[in-house]
Amino acid sequence: MNEKTSEIIESLFKTYYIRNKQKIFEPPRLRNREFAFQTFKSEGMIRHLAFENAEELRNYIVKIIPKHAFYSTAIYVLPSAHDMDEKGWIGAELVFDIDADHLDTPCRNQHDFWKCITCGYRGRGKTPETCPNCGSKNIKAYAWICEKCIAKAKEETLKLIENFLVPDFGINPKEIMVVFTGHRGFHIHVSSKEYTKLSSEERREIVDYIKALGLSIDKLIPFRRSREVLGLDINEPGWRGKIARKLYDFLLELEERKDEVRNFLGEKTATSLAEELNRVIVEIMDKPPKWTTLYRILGRKKLRKLLETLVKEEKCEVDEKVTIDTRRLIRLPGTLHGKSGLPVLILDLVSLDNFTLTKDLSPFKGKAKVKFTEEIPKNIEVLGEKIAGRKGENMKISLLAAIYLAGKGLVEIEGIE
Ligand SMILES: [Zn+2]
Ligand SMILES: [Zn+2]
Repeated sequence: MNEKTSEIIESLFKTYYIRNKQKIFEPPRLRNREFAFQTFKSEGMIRHLAFENAEELRNYIVKIIPKHAFYSTAIYVLPSAHDMDEKGWIGAELVFDIDADHLDTPCRNQHDFWKCITCGYRGRGKTPETCPNCGSKNIKAYAWICEKCIAKAKEETLKLIENFLVPDFGINPKEIMVVFTGHRGFHIHVSSKEYTKLSSEERREIVDYIKALGLSIDKLIPFRRSREVLGLDINEPGWRGKIARKLYDFLLELEERKDEVRNFLGEKTATSLAEELNRVIVEIMDKPPKWTTLYRILGRKKLRKLLETLVKEEKCEVDEKVTIDTRRLIRLPGTLHGKSGLPVLILDLVSLDNFTLTKDLSPFKGKAKVKFTEEIPKNIEVLGEKIAGRKGENMKISLLAAIYLAGKGLVEIEGIE
């Protein structure tokens, strides 16, 4: 980003902060939190800041105009101490990060692209480890924000809350805060007292459970001992019950998922399953539940394959690094994400359910004159706006797209209207 572009974005951020100062979030126990900022003028992070109250924090933000603003998920006795041990850790929210980067959305192949810095070779989709043309590892990835990716991340967030945090961990929904990160995903903060004291290792156990790491499917498949095969009960706690419920849903959706089922179970097995569907359902809902017919049709190997698929659909893709870190700095709601120009937003469960990525999220209206510093391939959308261009080309685009593309180093802003 050149100096002019940086100055233009900074002045836009300044206008935003002056107008929206009161929207900057006041975290509970603010005085015990560490704050950290990155400005437009410095690459490094200004860390170990502490404030007495929300007013002081907001005034500071309006004064320095951060490009990125963070606060600690932890509360400390002395948040401004530079030494981590001196800070005196009291506890930390249990935090989850769900990012479209970690989800395998098919649209990534259309909108993500990469460029080899060494030879200039470029391609679409997932960034390769090494350049297929010259073998260099020096590859720049351009991961894109997209409505479909955000929709998938949202689905994953709802699943985390509704299928894991509330039923399995007994967390009160009132003690869950969901935040749109302003870029490619969501943060989920749990403030329940029982969870704030957990160590890093304990948090890892929670992540393992949610991601089904170490779950042995073989141990879950019943063996045929007599004529009958006993199955898993939908009322069981933990993964056993989850799989039983998921199996029930799967059977109800069998007709809709016909093609996919044929693919992974084979034509013949899929047909038999469809033919005996009623009997299979009656049996799995019996008390105790039976998988006798299911087992007879599928056999052990295909049953295993089916359960693997169900676990894959049910588990939740959280970024473990974020959850296990009890001293994490996380984006401050009400501030702007410096790479996208979008605000970091707190969402309640209803607004999360209705959340979509649209240009209305951006506080920046109007147009900007930009110059492309890299080629942007065709059919790429930035918040609903189709933009493509060659290196060196000048164009007038929406201000919000200009900020977003400048944040990725793809354009320089020459002026705004
Ligand atoms: Zn190359
Ligand atoms: Zn996408």
